[in-house]
Amino acid sequence: MVTIPFGGPPAQPGTVYLVGGGPGDPGLMGLRAARLLASATFVAYDRLSPPEALALCPAEAEQVYVGKLPDRHALAQEEINELLVARARAGDAVVRFKGGDPFVLGRGSEEASACVAAGVAFEVVPGVTAGVAAPAYAGIPVTHRVMAPAFAVVTGHEDPTKPEAQVDYAALARFPGTLLLYMGVGRLRAIAAALVAAGREATTPVALVRWGTTPRQQTISGTLGDIAERVESAGFTNPAIIVVGDVVGLRDELSWFERRPLYGLSVLVPRTRHQAGELSERLRVLGAEPVEAPTIAIQASRTPQLLRAALTDVGNGAYDWVALTSANGVAAVVEQLAELGRDARLFAPVRLAAVGPGTAEALAAAGLRAELVPPTATTGELAAALVASGPPARALLPRADIATPTLTEALRSAGWRVDEVEAYRTVPVTELDPGVRQRLELGEIDVLAFASSSTVRNFVDLFGGPPPAGTRVASIGPVTSQTCRDLGLQVDAEADPHDLDGLVAAVRSAAGR
Ligand code: SAH
Repeated sequence: MVTIPFGGPPAQPGTVYLVGGGPGDPGLMGLRAARLLASATFVAYDRLSPPEALALCPAEAEQVYVGKLPDRHALAQEEINELLVARARAGDAVVRFKGGDPFVLGRGSEEASACVAAGVAFEVVPGVTAGVAAPAYAGIPVTHRVMAPAFAVVTGHEDPTKPEAQVDYAALARFPGTLLLYMGVGRLRAIAAALVAAGREATTPVALVRWGTTPRQQTISGTLGDIAERVESAGFTNPAIIVVGDVVGLRDELSWFERRPLYGLSVLVPRTRHQAGELSERLRVLGAEPVEAPTIAIQASRTPQLLRAALTDVGNGAYDWVALTSANGVAAVVEQLAELGRDARLFAPVRLAAVGPGTAEALAAAGLRAELVPPTATTGELAAALVASGPPARALLPRADIATPTLTEALRSAGWRVDEVEAYRTVPVTELDPGVRQRLELGEIDVLAFASSSTVRNFVDLFGGPPPAGTRVASIGPVTSQTCRDLGLQVDAEADPHDLDGLVAAVRSAAGR
C-alpha cells in the first residue's frame, strides 16, 4: 500500500467516502483523497475523475465505472446511491471518486443523503473544483482586486428560456463578478443571449476552457456577442467551463500551461504498465499528453526459488559480478532479497554492473551502486565493458525469460563463467486498447516513443503494421531504431544519451519543438 503523509486514517469497511478527485490533473488531488484511494476495497469512479489516480488503488480493490456522459447515464443516480450503500453494508471500504468537488454541481449531496437514509457512515473529501482550476490553468484568475471581487458558480445545464428554470439570468447579468458556468457548452448560445438580453454588455469577454488542467486542455475566447459562433465553428465540446467577465482578458498576460514546449502534443508510450509512469511523467511536465498503451506486461518469475538460490550463492562468494540489464530485473532481485530476509550487504562479495542509467538508478534506489555502467546502454556495450574490466571472471545475470543471448555469449566467448537466472517474465498483451487504436488511426497521436526493441515488435504486432504516415517515431537508441527500420517504421529522432531524458529530447525533436 502506498503511504500518504497527512492523509489521515485508511478507508474503513462499512463507510462511504465521497471523494473529490479535482479537475483532471492528478497532481491536484488532495492527500486525503490519495490515502483513501490507496486503502479502498471498492471504488466507483466517473468520466471526469482523474483516471491516472486509480493507479493508487490496491490491486485487489474492485473498480467500477459509473460515469455519465451528457446524453447517457451509465448508471442512474439512484442506482449509484444503491450501489454505494449496498457495498458499504457488505463490508467494503467504499470510495465514490468524483471529478472536481463532490458537493459542487456534482450530486454528491444526494449520495450523502442516501447514506444518511440507510444509516451508513460517510465522509466528504472536498476537491479542487473545475470552475476555478480550469481557468487558472488557462491563465484566468476567477477573482481580481480591480476587475472581479466575486465569482459565481452556476449550472449551465438548464435551458434559460424555460419558465421553470432555476437560474435567474437577470440576477446573473447584474452579478458583480466573474460567472463560471458548468455543463453549459450545449446551451452556450442561449446562455449568452439570456445574459445580453438581461443587460450584460455583448462585448463582455468570455472564454471556454475544455478538459482544463489535463494535457488535452484547450481554450477558446471571444465575447458574449460572438462566442457561440466561435465555439460552434471550432467544434468545441464538453467538458468545459464557461468563464464570463473582464478577468478573461488577463489570459494574454498570464497564460502559462498552454505555453509549455510540448503543449497539445500526444505521445504514445507503448511500454509496460510498470515502466510507463516515469516517461509519462516527464512528458506531462512539458505539457504533452502521454497516451499509455501497454504492449508487454511484466510478470513474476515462476521460479523465484532459483533466483533466491542464486542470490544466496552471491552472498557466499560464488560470483565476482552481478550484471543487471533492466530496472525490472533490479525490482525482482530486491524483492527476492527481502524474501530471503537479507539486505544490500549480501552483495558485499561482488561487483555490480548495470546496462544503463535507468537500471543504475533502480539499483541506487535500493542502496546499491553500480560500479560499471557502459557509455552506451546496450548489452553489447555492457559485455565489452565487463570484458575490459579485468581477467575472465564469474558473473550472475538475473534476466527476463526472453532475454537475447548477446551478453551471455560475448562473456562466455571471452572465457567468463556465466549463470543466467530468470528474474521476471515478459508476456505480450494480446490486444491494443481500442481507444488508443482509434486515435492512432485518426492520426491523433503525434509521436510514438519506443524505449525498447520488444515494445516496437509488440506494438507492430498489436497494431497490425507500422503506424499511419505522419505519425513521428522517437527511439531510445540504435538497437531500438534498427528494430523500427526492420519493421518498416521510419525513425525521426534517436535518443542520445540512451535514457529517458534522451528519449524525451528525441520526442521533442521528432515533433519539431
Ligand atoms: N463536481 C465537479 C463538477 C461536475 S459537473 C467540479 O467540482 O468540478 C461537470 C462539469 O464540470 C462539466 O460539464 C464541465 O463543465 C465541468 N468540468 C469538469 N471537469 C472539467 C475540466 N477538466 N475542464 C473543464 N470543465 C470541467
